[in-house]
Amino acid sequence: MKPHACVIDIDGTIADESLRRRRATDRDGDINWRKYFREDIVLEDPPIEKARDVLRWIKEQGCRIIYLSSRDDKLTKTTKDWLIKHGFPGGDLKHRKKYQKTTEFKICTIKSLQKRYDIIFGIGDRDGDIEAYRAAGIIPLRVVTNQEEDWDRIQHEIQKII
Ligand SMILES: [Mg+2]
Repeated sequence: MKPHACVIDIDGTIADESLRRRRATDRDGDINWRKYFREDIVLEDPPIEKARDVLRWIKEQGCRIIYLSSRDDKLTKTTKDWLIKHGFPGGDLKHRKKYQKTTEFKICTIKSLQKRYDIIFGIGDRDGDIEAYRAAGIIPLRVVTNQEEDWDRIQHEIQKII
C-alpha cells in the first residue's frame, strides 16, 4: 500500500500574497511576474495561520504534505526558509521549471508522484489548481485566495475523506 499524501498550493492558499500582488501590478492592472516572484518580497508574505494549523493536523493524520507551486524553482530555497520560519510542517516541495505552463506542470507532477503516493486531495485557490487536481484524479478543495476563514470548512471536508 502506498503512503497517503496531499498536494498544497502556496501563493494565495497558505501564503498571503495580496501585498506582493499589489506591489507587482501596474496602473493598467498588468502583473510584473519578475517583481511578483522577487525573493526578498516573497519572503515577506504573511502566512495564513489557520492554513498552517490545518496542515499540521493533516500531517498528524498520517498524510504526507507535498507543496506544489508554480513558483520558479529558483525560489526553492526561499520557499523552504519561509515554510520553516512560519512553522509549516515539513514535506516535499515541487516548483515549476521556467519553460513549463502552470496547469500542465501541476498535472504532470501529481501523476508522477502517484507512482509513489496515494494522493487523496489537493488544496488550491485558482481555477488552474482545481483543473489540475481533477485532471490527475484527486479530490479538489478550493480556498478563497488569501483568506483565513475558509480553512475551518476545508478541515471539515478533509475529515470526511481521510
Ligand atoms: Mg495560488
